[in-house]
Amino acid sequence: MTQIKGELALIAQIRRQFATRPTALIPQGIGDDCAILRPPSGTEVLVTTDFTLEGRHFRRDLHPARVAGHRCLARGLSDLAAMGASPLAAFLSLALPRDLPARWVKEFLAGLGDLARASRVSLAGGDTAQSPTEHILADILLLGTAPTGTSIRRSGARPGDLLYVTGQLGAAAAQLRTLLGGGRVRTHHLPQPRLAIGQKIRGRATACIDLSDGLSTDLTHLCAASKVRAEIDLAALPIHPTATHADALHGGEDYELLFTAPASVRIPKSIAGTPITPIGRILKGRPAIQTIAPDGTKKPLLPGGWEHFTKA
Ligand code: ADP
Ligand code: MG
Repeated sequence: MTQIKGELALIAQIRRQFATRPTALIPQGIGDDCAILRPPSGTEVLVTTDFTLEGRHFRRDLHPARVAGHRCLARGLSDLAAMGASPLAAFLSLALPRDLPARWVKEFLAGLGDLARASRVSLAGGDTAQSPTEHILADILLLGTAPTGTSIRRSGARPGDLLYVTGQLGAAAAQLRTLLGGGRVRTHHLPQPRLAIGQKIRGRATACIDLSDGLSTDLTHLCAASKVRAEIDLAALPIHPTATHADALHGGEDYELLFTAPASVRIPKSIAGTPITPIGRILKGRPAIQTIAPDGTKKPLLPGGWEHFTKA
């Protein structure tokens, strides 16, 4: 088992793998003390950071390094997608245990790199250190741009708006249950950040959030920010074939978009090949969610998704 040969060798490897020629947007990427970015004039810059921590967001025994790398970048890109932004640059900070096999890092960077290329985002810098524990810690910083004043926020939903979701829900939770139960999976779920959809609905959607913690939890955030309540038609939910109702309502890490738009605004049935489903509506009232069963029975839906510091 080959181990990492040192910080400089690792950075050299990252540079070989990711360094691109200077561009109009990024005249200086990896290789100097700072990166230099030139956001197009007339745009605002959006910034998001996300941890990917071993034992918290992935397990080395359950998740291949490639999958961990993909998800690390996907988390940040999904936040940009939720606000309708286009990626500008990514920065990756890594704390790696001393005895980590070099192969793990190589695969992690390959997974991250594949998604970076597919999403047309450059890795423009980062930091690399030896982890003080036996755990891998990664932090991704993403910058994006959107025409000034057009970024979609969580706070814009209004009574009368319809509620939409992209793709299918619950696949990530269903797969995690299989893995935790000792089962095997044929292919690991690789969430696809909905960048094209976020950019397309900018100007039409009134509010948007990405589903990182689960529909019940993320819709609660959207309702609280917009000071409205929401109704979900259970029969309308696009549940992934491998998932249960509970996975779709509460499962995290789907990274689909949940958004609202006035009923008068036309929302296509699919964008960039991904289906978009109306699943409910926004109503006046104190922030809360109700589900409506096919027989008309209404029930309150409490946030049941992921929240740190609350579970053992
Ligand atoms: P400094 O000590 O000045 O912070 P470093 O030696 O840490 O410089 O980094 C050298 C260059 O390599 C910088 O451009 C930095 O952004 C880049 N870099 C370091 N670690 C990473 C990483 N994990 N991913 C991407 N770029 C990195
Ligand atoms: Mg540094």
